Amino acid sequence: MKLSRFGQRFARRTGARDLMDDLGAAMAGSSDMKMLGGGNPAHIPEIQTLMSERLREVAGSERELKRMLSNYPSPAGEEHFRAALAALLSREYGWNLGPENIALTGGSQGSFFLLFNLLAGELSSGGKQKILLPLTPEYIGYEDLGVSEDMLTSRKPEIEYLDNRIFKYRVDFTGMESLEDLGAICVSRPTNPTGNVLTDNEVSHLSELALHHDVPLIIDNAYGAPFPQIIFSDTQPIWDEHIILCMSLSKIGLPGARTGIVVANKDIIDALTSMNAVLSLAVGSVGPVMMQALVESGEILKLSREVIRPYYERKALQSVDWFHEVLDGLDYQIHKPEGALFLWLWFKGLPVSSEELYQRLKDRGVLVIAGQHFFPGLDEDWPHTRECIRVTYSQDDQMVREGIAIIADEVKRIFAEFGA
Ligand code: PLP
Repeated sequence: MKLSRFGQRFARRTGARDLMDDLGAAMAGSSDMKMLGGGNPAHIPEIQTLMSERLREVAGSERELKRMLSNYPSPAGEEHFRAALAALLSREYGWNLGPENIALTGGSQGSFFLLFNLLAGELSSGGKQKILLPLTPEYIGYEDLGVSEDMLTSRKPEIEYLDNRIFKYRVDFTGMESLEDLGAICVSRPTNPTGNVLTDNEVSHLSELALHHDVPLIIDNAYGAPFPQIIFSDTQPIWDEHIILCMSLSKIGLPGARTGIVVANKDIIDALTSMNAVLSLAVGSVGPVMMQALVESGEILKLSREVIRPYYERKALQSVDWFHEVLDGLDYQIHKPEGALFLWLWFKGLPVSSEELYQRLKDRGVLVIAGQHFFPGLDEDWPHTRECIRVTYSQDDQMVREGIAIIADEVKRIFAEFGA
């Protein structure tokens, strides 16, 4: 079989494929692995109960069942959900937008595929545009999205040391104003893999930078406000005509529904609508119909604030404490956990690569993700990229605690082995 250039590019093995293979096997119960790797949200009992009640309601209503399963929605996504969400965002944040500012996709991973290829790559007038990731470490899923090679350019962060072995990455804006050939700027906030939340100042600086370059600022809000609000720091969400806010129903507890949400100006939404029609005619309505009533009533805000956020915050703080207990004696740092489902561990001077540490841990039945995958678009060789791992704390407490103990034991063994 002779594959096209597109075929070769998209059929190859990628970090995202490996990660999702591991995740799929672990979540299907076909492995005994301690799953501290992928980004599956927790099965929060209140959310599970709510979903099963909502499914029963839909099953009992002919009208809703038709909307969920029996009709094609419009290519921009299920109309009622988009209208309810536009109303919620206007009410809550005073943003001047309507349903024509919202498109749905088959998961926000799909949103990024569409957006990156819409805004970057080869130009019909010749030349190329790139997506700037102003701060790495950044989400692994951005890495292989480009239909053409070499679509990303990214930057190292500044590192701020805080108390008690906690640190925080900050955007280093040096030289960003004079960059050329940008198509968009993109950040995840809260950030996967680090749990960092860019400050309001950093985001307004990025917004100005986007205006200066006359490109959109894409904010990946998969974990942010108004839902699922897995965000522990006091920051404000932001949207404007030049900002593309990407959201998802996954981290609230519906990753199987594959629903991504893009909030943007009408031109971007119109382009995404055309792309949806070509790629899939329309995207699924299961997620939108499941969540519409909660969005319409605003109950989703209460749920996010009172159930989801505290659930993860407790787990995050607990996991940091467990790490401090077992890592005693090592030179380690933990990124300040401000949101998302992850802790980012930095073992300074780690004598093996983070990829080897991942393999060793996998052999001992613990899945984490090697840090070196989280620097998409960074050309520079920076030893820091090989000294970090991402640990997911969303799963069962007992499993997380046992996993953390094994991680600490393995890292200590490695340092001992190398006499470091
Ligand atoms: N963006 C970030 C930062 C993520 O962590 C993820 C998933 O882990 C996604 C986007 C993709 O989410 P989904 O495609 O499930 O909506």
